[in-house]
Amino acid sequence: MRDSATAPIDVSAIAFIDLQAQRARIGARMDAAIGRVLNHGGFIMGPEVAEVERKLAAHCGAKHVITCSSGTTAIAMALMAKDVGRGDAVFVPSFTFTATAEAPAILGATPVFVDVLPDTFNLDPASLERAVAVAKQTGLRPACVIPVDLFGQPVDFDAVRAVTDRHGLWILDDAAQSYGARYKGKALGTCADITATSFYPSKPLGCYGDGGALFTGDDELAKRLRQVRVHGQNHDRNENARVGLTGRFDSIQAAVLLEKLAIFDAECTERDTVAARYAAGLKDVVTTPFVRPDCTSVWAQYTIKSPRRDRIAATLQAQGIPSAIHYLKPIHTQPPYRGFPVASGGLPVTERLAQEVISLPIHPYLTVEAQERIIAAVRAGVA
Ligand SMILES: *Cc1c(COP(=O)(O)O)cnc(C)c1O
Repeated sequence: MRDSATAPIDVSAIAFIDLQAQRARIGARMDAAIGRVLNHGGFIMGPEVAEVERKLAAHCGAKHVITCSSGTTAIAMALMAKDVGRGDAVFVPSFTFTATAEAPAILGATPVFVDVLPDTFNLDPASLERAVAVAKQTGLRPACVIPVDLFGQPVDFDAVRAVTDRHGLWILDDAAQSYGARYKGKALGTCADITATSFYPSKPLGCYGDGGALFTGDDELAKRLRQVRVHGQNHDRNENARVGLTGRFDSIQAAVLLEKLAIFDAECTERDTVAARYAAGLKDVVTTPFVRPDCTSVWAQYTIKSPRRDRIAATLQAQGIPSAIHYLKPIHTQPPYRGFPVASGGLPVTERLAQEVISLPIHPYLTVEAQERIIAAVRAGVA
Protein backbone atom coordinates (compact mmCIF):
# COMPACT_ATOMS: atom_id res chain seq x y z
CA MET A 1 0.00 0.00 0.00
CA ARG A 2 1.29 3.47 -0.71
CA ASP A 3 0.03 6.74 0.69
CA SER A 4 -1.08 8.61 -2.42
CA ALA A 5 -1.62 11.84 -0.50
CA THR A 6 2.07 12.19 0.37
CA ALA A 7 4.04 10.03 -2.04
CA PRO A 8 4.09 10.32 -5.83
CA ILE A 9 3.14 7.07 -7.54
CA ASP A 10 6.30 5.32 -8.67
CA VAL A 11 5.44 4.03 -12.13
CA SER A 12 8.51 1.82 -12.14
CA ALA A 13 7.51 0.00 -8.92
CA ILE A 14 7.24 -3.74 -9.45
CA ALA A 15 4.31 -5.54 -7.83
CA PHE A 16 4.65 -9.11 -6.53
CA ILE A 17 1.23 -9.85 -8.04
CA ASP A 18 -0.42 -7.07 -10.03
CA LEU A 19 -4.22 -7.24 -9.85
CA GLN A 20 -4.59 -3.65 -11.04
CA ALA A 21 -2.97 -4.53 -14.38
CA GLN A 22 -5.63 -7.21 -14.82
CA ARG A 23 -8.31 -4.60 -14.13
CA ALA A 24 -7.15 -2.69 -17.19
CA ARG A 25 -8.18 -5.76 -19.23
CA ILE A 26 -11.54 -6.63 -17.65
CA GLY A 27 -12.45 -3.74 -15.35
CA ALA A 28 -15.51 -2.54 -17.26
CA ARG A 29 -16.97 -6.04 -17.63
CA MET A 30 -16.22 -6.71 -13.96
CA ASP A 31 -17.98 -3.58 -12.73
CA ALA A 32 -21.03 -4.50 -14.82
CA ALA A 33 -21.04 -8.08 -13.48
CA ILE A 34 -20.91 -6.90 -9.86
CA GLY A 35 -23.56 -4.30 -10.63
CA ARG A 36 -25.94 -7.01 -11.88
CA VAL A 37 -25.72 -8.79 -8.52
CA LEU A 38 -26.32 -5.52 -6.65
CA ASN A 39 -29.44 -5.02 -8.77
CA HIS A 40 -30.94 -8.53 -8.48
CA GLY A 41 -30.09 -8.74 -4.77
CA GLY A 42 -29.67 -12.52 -4.60
CA PHE A 43 -26.48 -12.28 -2.55
CA ILE A 44 -26.57 -15.82 -1.18
CA MET A 45 -26.65 -18.73 -3.67
CA GLY A 46 -27.69 -16.42 -6.48
CA PRO A 47 -27.68 -17.51 -10.14
CA GLU A 48 -23.94 -16.67 -10.53
CA VAL A 49 -23.01 -19.41 -8.05
CA ALA A 50 -24.71 -22.15 -10.08
CA GLU A 51 -23.34 -20.67 -13.29
CA VAL A 52 -19.73 -20.58 -12.10
CA GLU A 53 -20.04 -24.17 -10.82
CA ARG A 54 -21.24 -25.24 -14.28
CA LYS A 55 -18.44 -23.34 -16.02
CA LEU A 56 -15.75 -24.71 -13.70
CA ALA A 57 -17.04 -28.26 -14.31
CA ALA A 58 -16.87 -27.70 -18.06
CA HIS A 59 -13.44 -26.11 -17.74
CA CYS A 60 -11.72 -28.98 -15.92
CA GLY A 61 -14.03 -31.89 -16.76
CA ALA A 62 -15.07 -32.70 -13.17
CA LYS A 63 -18.56 -34.20 -12.73
CA HIS A 64 -19.39 -32.18 -9.61
CA VAL A 65 -18.19 -28.74 -8.52
CA ILE A 66 -19.21 -27.37 -5.12
CA THR A 67 -18.04 -23.81 -4.52
CA CYS A 68 -17.38 -22.69 -0.96
CA SER A 69 -16.13 -19.86 1.22
CA SER A 70 -12.34 -20.47 1.08
CA GLY A 71 -9.67 -23.00 0.26
CA THR A 72 -9.25 -23.84 3.93
CA THR A 73 -12.99 -24.42 4.26
CA ALA A 74 -12.86 -26.61 1.15
CA ILE A 75 -10.27 -28.91 2.74
CA ALA A 76 -12.18 -29.02 6.04
CA MET A 77 -15.50 -29.70 4.25
CA ALA A 78 -13.96 -32.63 2.36
CA LEU A 79 -12.73 -34.16 5.62
CA MET A 80 -16.13 -33.55 7.27
CA ALA A 81 -18.00 -35.17 4.38
CA LYS A 82 -15.74 -38.22 4.78
CA ASP A 83 -16.26 -38.27 8.59
CA VAL A 84 -12.58 -37.73 9.40
CA GLY A 85 -11.99 -36.91 13.06
CA ARG A 86 -10.31 -37.97 16.28
CA GLY A 87 -7.97 -40.94 15.93
CA ASP A 88 -7.58 -40.50 12.17
CA ALA A 89 -4.17 -39.83 10.62
CA VAL A 90 -4.16 -37.35 7.72
CA PHE A 91 -0.86 -37.29 5.82
CA VAL A 92 0.27 -33.84 4.72
CA PRO A 93 3.46 -32.20 3.52
CA SER A 94 5.05 -29.72 5.92
CA PHE A 95 6.41 -27.64 3.04
CA THR A 96 3.08 -25.92 2.23
CA PHE A 97 0.75 -23.17 3.42
CA THR A 98 -0.57 -23.80 6.96
CA ALA A 99 -4.12 -24.55 5.82
CA THR A 100 -3.23 -28.03 4.55
CA ALA A 101 -2.42 -29.19 8.10
CA GLU A 102 -4.81 -26.82 9.83
CA ALA A 103 -7.98 -28.35 8.37
CA PRO A 104 -7.41 -31.84 9.85
CA ALA A 105 -6.26 -30.25 13.15
CA ILE A 106 -9.50 -28.22 13.39
CA LEU A 107 -11.46 -31.48 13.22
CA GLY A 108 -9.40 -33.21 15.91
CA ALA A 109 -7.68 -35.49 13.40
CA THR A 110 -3.90 -35.88 13.50
CA PRO A 111 -1.83 -34.35 10.71
CA VAL A 112 1.21 -36.56 10.07
CA PHE A 113 3.99 -34.72 8.25
CA VAL A 114 5.62 -36.08 5.11
CA ASP A 115 8.76 -34.88 3.32
CA VAL A 116 8.86 -33.53 -0.24
CA LEU A 117 11.05 -34.17 -3.28
CA PRO A 118 14.00 -31.82 -3.88
CA ASP A 119 13.18 -31.12 -7.54
CA THR A 120 9.40 -30.50 -7.67
CA PHE A 121 8.95 -29.67 -3.94
CA ASN A 122 5.90 -32.00 -4.04
CA LEU A 123 5.09 -34.98 -1.78
CA ASP A 124 7.73 -37.74 -1.58
CA PRO A 125 5.97 -41.13 -1.91
CA ALA A 126 8.77 -42.95 -0.04
CA SER A 127 8.38 -40.56 2.91
CA LEU A 128 4.59 -41.10 2.74
CA GLU A 129 5.16 -44.85 3.09
CA ARG A 130 7.31 -44.21 6.19
CA ALA A 131 4.70 -41.81 7.61
CA VAL A 132 1.95 -44.44 7.28
CA ALA A 133 4.13 -46.86 9.26
CA VAL A 134 4.64 -44.22 11.99
CA ALA A 135 0.89 -43.58 12.19
CA LYS A 136 0.11 -47.28 12.57
CA GLN A 137 2.77 -47.70 15.28
CA THR A 138 1.24 -44.74 17.13
CA GLY A 139 -2.19 -46.38 17.08
CA LEU A 140 -3.76 -43.94 14.61
CA ARG A 141 -6.12 -44.99 11.79
CA PRO A 142 -4.58 -43.92 8.46
CA ALA A 143 -7.46 -42.10 6.70
CA CYS A 144 -6.27 -40.06 3.77
CA VAL A 145 -3.44 -38.09 2.24
CA ILE A 146 -3.58 -34.43 1.23
CA PRO A 147 -0.88 -33.93 -1.38
CA VAL A 148 -0.33 -30.32 -2.43
CA ASP A 149 0.25 -29.22 -6.02
CA LEU A 150 2.83 -26.74 -4.89
CA PHE A 151 3.54 -23.42 -6.61
CA GLY A 152 1.34 -24.39 -9.59
CA GLN A 153 2.56 -27.89 -10.47
CA PRO A 154 0.61 -31.15 -9.90
CA VAL A 155 1.95 -33.81 -7.57
CA ASP A 156 2.86 -37.17 -9.17
CA PHE A 157 -0.55 -38.76 -8.57
CA ASP A 158 0.42 -42.21 -9.92
CA ALA A 159 3.35 -42.45 -7.49
CA VAL A 160 1.18 -41.27 -4.56
CA ARG A 161 -1.61 -43.67 -5.54
CA ALA A 162 0.81 -46.63 -5.54
CA VAL A 163 1.24 -45.98 -1.79
CA THR A 164 -2.38 -45.08 -0.98
CA ASP A 165 -3.73 -48.19 -2.78
CA ARG A 166 -1.52 -50.40 -0.61
CA HIS A 167 -2.97 -48.87 2.55
CA GLY A 168 -6.58 -48.16 1.54
CA LEU A 169 -6.24 -44.37 1.81
CA TRP A 170 -8.18 -41.86 -0.28
CA ILE A 171 -6.64 -38.75 -1.81
CA LEU A 172 -7.76 -35.17 -1.19
CA ASP A 173 -5.78 -33.02 -3.60
CA ASP A 174 -4.89 -29.54 -2.31
CA ALA A 175 -4.89 -27.63 -5.61
CA ALA A 176 -5.24 -24.23 -3.90
CA GLN A 177 -2.26 -22.93 -5.89
CA SER A 178 -2.72 -24.93 -9.03
CA TYR A 179 -6.21 -24.95 -10.51
CA GLY A 180 -5.72 -24.98 -14.29
CA ALA A 181 -2.63 -27.23 -14.30
CA ARG A 182 -2.54 -30.69 -15.92
CA TYR A 183 -1.10 -34.06 -14.95
CA LYS A 184 -0.55 -36.51 -17.83
CA GLY A 185 -3.09 -34.56 -19.87
CA LYS A 186 -5.77 -34.56 -17.13
CA ALA A 187 -6.86 -31.29 -15.53
CA LEU A 188 -6.61 -30.86 -11.76
CA GLY A 189 -10.06 -31.41 -10.36
CA THR A 190 -10.17 -34.86 -11.97
CA CYS A 191 -6.96 -36.43 -10.63
CA ALA A 192 -7.98 -37.37 -7.05
CA ASP A 193 -11.01 -38.62 -5.09
CA ILE A 194 -11.67 -35.02 -4.09
CA THR A 195 -9.88 -31.84 -5.12
CA ALA A 196 -9.94 -28.59 -3.15
CA THR A 197 -8.97 -25.21 -4.51
CA SER A 198 -8.87 -21.59 -3.37
CA PHE A 199 -9.95 -18.38 -5.09
CA TYR A 200 -8.02 -16.11 -2.72
CA PRO A 201 -7.17 -13.00 -4.77
CA SER A 202 -3.47 -13.79 -5.27
CA LYS A 203 -4.02 -17.37 -6.49
CA PRO A 204 -3.70 -17.90 -10.25
CA LEU A 205 -7.53 -17.98 -10.47
CA GLY A 206 -8.72 -15.63 -7.75
CA CYS A 207 -11.80 -13.62 -6.86
CA TYR A 208 -11.96 -10.31 -4.94
CA GLY A 209 -12.29 -11.80 -1.48
CA ASP A 210 -12.29 -15.29 -0.02
CA GLY A 211 -13.57 -18.28 -1.95
CA GLY A 212 -12.88 -21.87 -2.89
CA ALA A 213 -14.27 -24.97 -4.54
CA LEU A 214 -14.40 -28.74 -4.33
CA PHE A 215 -14.34 -31.14 -7.28
CA THR A 216 -15.35 -34.79 -7.29
CA GLY A 217 -16.68 -37.51 -9.56
CA ASP A 218 -18.54 -39.22 -6.69
CA ASP A 219 -22.32 -38.51 -6.59
CA GLU A 220 -22.80 -39.44 -2.92
CA LEU A 221 -19.82 -37.38 -1.82
CA ALA A 222 -21.06 -34.38 -3.83
CA LYS A 223 -24.42 -34.64 -2.04
CA ARG A 224 -22.70 -34.73 1.35
CA LEU A 225 -20.47 -31.76 0.46
CA ARG A 226 -23.56 -29.73 -0.47
CA GLN A 227 -25.07 -30.63 2.91
CA VAL A 228 -21.90 -29.74 4.83
CA ARG A 229 -21.78 -26.38 3.04
CA VAL A 230 -25.10 -25.33 4.61
CA HIS A 231 -25.06 -26.58 8.21
CA GLY A 232 -25.60 -30.19 7.18
CA GLN A 233 -29.08 -29.34 5.92
CA ASN A 234 -30.90 -32.03 3.97
CA HIS A 235 -33.57 -30.93 1.43
CA ASP A 236 -34.91 -28.14 3.62
CA ARG A 237 -33.74 -26.04 6.51
CA ASN A 238 -35.76 -27.95 9.09
CA GLU A 239 -33.76 -31.13 8.72
CA ASN A 240 -30.08 -31.61 9.49
CA ALA A 241 -28.46 -34.73 8.06
CA ARG A 242 -25.03 -34.06 9.53
CA VAL A 243 -22.83 -31.47 11.21
CA GLY A 244 -21.88 -28.72 8.76
CA LEU A 245 -20.99 -25.05 8.70
CA THR A 246 -21.54 -21.78 6.83
CA GLY A 247 -19.44 -22.69 3.83
CA ARG A 248 -21.09 -20.88 0.91
CA PHE A 249 -19.39 -18.89 -1.87
CA ASP A 250 -21.27 -15.60 -2.30
CA SER A 251 -22.91 -14.34 -5.49
CA ILE A 252 -20.70 -11.24 -5.89
CA GLN A 253 -17.54 -13.37 -5.74
CA ALA A 254 -19.10 -15.84 -8.18
CA ALA A 255 -19.76 -12.95 -10.58
CA VAL A 256 -16.12 -11.84 -10.20
CA LEU A 257 -14.88 -15.37 -10.82
CA LEU A 258 -16.97 -15.75 -13.98
CA GLU A 259 -15.18 -12.75 -15.51
CA LYS A 260 -11.77 -14.02 -14.41
CA LEU A 261 -12.44 -17.53 -15.71
CA ALA A 262 -13.18 -16.09 -19.15
CA ILE A 263 -9.56 -14.87 -19.49
CA PHE A 264 -7.90 -17.54 -17.33
CA ASP A 265 -6.56 -19.83 -20.07
CA ALA A 266 -5.03 -16.85 -21.89
CA GLU A 267 -3.47 -15.69 -18.62
CA CYS A 268 -1.99 -19.15 -18.03
CA THR A 269 -0.25 -18.93 -21.41
CA GLU A 270 1.08 -15.50 -20.45
CA ARG A 271 2.34 -16.86 -17.11
CA ASP A 272 4.20 -19.55 -19.05
CA THR A 273 5.90 -16.88 -21.15
CA VAL A 274 6.98 -14.98 -18.04
CA ALA A 275 8.32 -18.20 -16.45
CA ALA A 276 10.27 -19.06 -19.60
CA ARG A 277 11.90 -15.60 -19.58
CA TYR A 278 12.98 -16.10 -15.95
CA ALA A 279 14.42 -19.53 -16.75
CA ALA A 280 16.40 -18.14 -19.70
CA GLY A 281 17.80 -15.30 -17.58
CA LEU A 282 18.58 -17.24 -14.41
CA LYS A 283 19.17 -20.93 -15.02
CA ASP A 284 22.97 -20.59 -15.12
CA VAL A 285 23.18 -18.93 -11.67
CA VAL A 286 20.37 -20.47 -9.52
CA THR A 287 18.20 -23.60 -9.58
CA THR A 288 15.13 -22.57 -11.57
CA PRO A 289 11.83 -24.49 -11.13
CA PHE A 290 11.67 -28.01 -12.53
CA VAL A 291 8.39 -28.88 -14.23
CA ARG A 292 7.98 -32.59 -14.98
CA PRO A 293 7.60 -33.30 -18.70
CA ASP A 294 4.17 -34.91 -18.01
CA CYS A 295 2.87 -31.83 -16.11
CA THR A 296 2.01 -28.22 -16.77
CA SER A 297 2.29 -25.47 -14.16
CA VAL A 298 0.11 -22.40 -13.68
CA TRP A 299 3.01 -20.68 -11.89
CA ALA A 300 1.32 -19.58 -8.66
CA GLN A 301 4.88 -18.83 -7.56
CA TYR A 302 8.18 -18.65 -9.38
CA THR A 303 10.41 -20.13 -6.72
CA ILE A 304 14.14 -20.44 -7.25
CA LYS A 305 16.67 -22.25 -5.09
CA SER A 306 20.17 -21.07 -4.15
CA PRO A 307 22.58 -21.50 -1.23
CA ARG A 308 22.94 -17.68 -1.50
CA ARG A 309 19.23 -17.12 -0.92
CA ASP A 310 19.66 -14.55 1.85
CA ARG A 311 21.97 -12.42 -0.30
CA ILE A 312 19.50 -12.56 -3.19
CA ALA A 313 16.72 -11.44 -0.82
CA ALA A 314 18.85 -8.54 0.49
CA THR A 315 19.78 -7.41 -3.02
CA LEU A 316 16.15 -7.48 -4.19
CA GLN A 317 15.04 -5.56 -1.12
CA ALA A 318 17.76 -2.92 -1.59
CA GLN A 319 16.46 -2.35 -5.12
CA GLY A 320 12.82 -2.13 -4.04
CA ILE A 321 11.86 -5.40 -5.74
CA PRO A 322 9.33 -7.46 -3.75
CA SER A 323 10.05 -11.12 -3.02
CA ALA A 324 8.71 -13.72 -0.59
CA ILE A 325 9.91 -16.89 1.06
CA HIS A 326 7.57 -19.83 0.70
CA TYR A 327 8.12 -21.35 3.21
CA LEU A 328 10.55 -19.98 5.78
CA LYS A 329 9.15 -22.00 8.69
CA PRO A 330 7.78 -25.41 7.67
CA ILE A 331 4.55 -26.27 9.49
CA HIS A 332 6.01 -29.08 11.63
CA THR A 333 8.37 -26.51 13.22
CA GLN A 334 5.56 -24.08 14.19
CA PRO A 335 4.41 -24.12 17.84
CA PRO A 336 0.81 -25.38 17.30
CA TYR A 337 2.04 -28.30 15.16
CA ARG A 338 5.22 -29.40 16.91
CA GLY A 339 3.46 -32.18 18.79
CA PHE A 340 2.23 -34.00 15.68
CA PRO A 341 4.09 -37.00 14.21
CA VAL A 342 6.52 -36.78 11.29
CA ALA A 343 7.63 -39.53 8.91
CA SER A 344 10.53 -41.61 10.21
CA GLY A 345 13.79 -40.26 8.85
CA GLY A 346 12.48 -36.74 9.47
CA LEU A 347 11.93 -34.05 6.83
CA PRO A 348 15.47 -33.19 5.67
CA VAL A 349 14.44 -31.94 2.22
CA THR A 350 11.77 -29.66 3.70
CA GLU A 351 14.23 -28.20 6.20
CA ARG A 352 16.85 -27.63 3.51
CA LEU A 353 14.38 -25.96 1.13
CA ALA A 354 13.28 -23.57 3.87
CA GLN A 355 16.83 -22.18 3.82
CA GLU A 356 17.31 -22.02 0.06
CA VAL A 357 14.08 -20.96 -1.67
CA ILE A 358 12.86 -17.52 -2.67
CA SER A 359 9.87 -16.55 -4.80
CA LEU A 360 10.10 -13.79 -7.41
CA PRO A 361 7.26 -11.58 -8.67
CA ILE A 362 5.10 -13.40 -11.22
CA HIS A 363 1.80 -12.53 -12.88
CA PRO A 364 0.56 -12.42 -16.47
CA TYR A 365 1.23 -8.68 -16.82
CA LEU A 366 4.89 -8.60 -15.76
CA THR A 367 6.74 -6.62 -18.45
CA VAL A 368 10.02 -7.59 -20.11
CA GLU A 369 11.62 -4.42 -18.65
CA ALA A 370 10.54 -5.25 -15.09
CA GLN A 371 11.73 -8.82 -15.51
CA GLU A 372 15.12 -7.65 -16.77
CA ARG A 373 15.52 -5.57 -13.60
CA ILE A 374 14.56 -8.54 -11.40
CA ILE A 375 16.90 -10.92 -13.25
CA ALA A 376 19.80 -8.43 -12.98
CA ALA A 377 19.17 -8.04 -9.24
CA VAL A 378 19.13 -11.82 -8.64
CA ARG A 379 22.34 -12.20 -10.64
CA ALA A 380 23.95 -9.38 -8.60
CA GLY A 381 22.89 -11.22 -5.42
CA VAL A 382 24.69 -14.43 -6.34
CA ALA A 383 27.76 -12.75 -7.87
C1 LIG B 1 -3.95 -20.60 -0.19
C2 LIG B 1 -3.82 -22.01 0.19
C3 LIG B 1 -4.81 -22.67 0.96
C4 LIG B 1 -5.95 -21.96 1.63
O1 LIG B 1 -6.75 -21.21 0.83
P1 LIG B 1 -7.62 -20.00 1.48
O2 LIG B 1 -8.60 -19.71 0.41
O3 LIG B 1 -6.66 -18.89 1.75
O4 LIG B 1 -8.24 -20.53 2.71
C5 LIG B 1 -4.66 -24.02 1.19
N1 LIG B 1 -3.61 -24.70 0.73
C6 LIG B 1 -2.62 -24.10 0.02
C7 LIG B 1 -1.49 -24.94 -0.47
C8 LIG B 1 -2.69 -22.74 -0.26
O5 LIG B 1 -1.70 -22.15 -0.94
